[in-house]
Amino acid sequence: MDLQKSILRKVGEAVTRFKMIREEDRVAVGFSGGKDSFTLLEALLALKKRAPVRFEVCAFTIEQGKFIQPVEPFGEWMRERGVEWTYHVDNPSLRLIAERPGHGCDECSRFRRRAVYQIARRLGANVIAFGHTADDFCEAFLRNAMFTGRISALPPVTWSRERDFRLIRPLLYVTEDLTRAYAEAAAAPVIPCGCSLKTGTVRRSLRDFFAEIERDHPHLKSTLLRAMGNLNPSRLLDLRYFGPDTADDLSPESALPVLDEGFIES
Ligand code: SF4
Repeated sequence: MDLQKSILRKVGEAVTRFKMIREEDRVAVGFSGGKDSFTLLEALLALKKRAPVRFEVCAFTIEQGKFIQPVEPFGEWMRERGVEWTYHVDNPSLRLIAERPGHGCDECSRFRRRAVYQIARRLGANVIAFGHTADDFCEAFLRNAMFTGRISALPPVTWSRERDFRLIRPLLYVTEDLTRAYAEAAAAPVIPCGCSLKTGTVRRSLRDFFAEIERDHPHLKSTLLRAMGNLNPSRLLDLRYFGPDTADDLSPESALPVLDEGFIES
């Protein structure tokens, strides 16, 4: 199927470019039960069959009390594919919901992160794969620039704090229109998390913003991803990335001759 080929090509590109998976790795896929994690798991299983390196794939799901339906269909899906799957009910997260139902994403993510490492350790994995997509990278990029004053998105590959797990995001070039189409075509038993149905969040506003601009500029996200890999620090304002003679270059005598006067108007 073309859709599958296209996804596999993009995942292969990300895995190769950022050296995400290496010989003898055991990759634990964080399986949230949404369209992205179905796509991620299927792509890694397909890649495992044809990649030049040998690696294993297993999967886990953390129950934080946010699923809107029972998750039994996931078990059947995993059995059909021969995937070792762990379903972990995270009691601290359930207590958090009961005691502070209005808790924010920071707290929820902290609880999840702790559970993720626990489970990955139990599974004997050395790599943890997350289902963040191109959309997530683009949203994080804009969110950080607009709300935290930083030019950054998400790391495609990084380490856990103790350096005991490599954390990878193989869907970084895959947009959610593809994961949605893939999950539908494969009749994946997607169960959304209750949070994904919320409106009025910054995330929702950014999604609406992208949807509107993409009507006229359908390649917006791939352009943004290219931009993230193509920095021009001398056109930004961070002195750490200027040349070694920055202090001299920026002395009053140098008078910064390069800008047009009109550039600084209003
Ligand atoms: S969106 Fe919901 S599940 Fe996701 S981090 Fe926030 S509170 Fe947790």
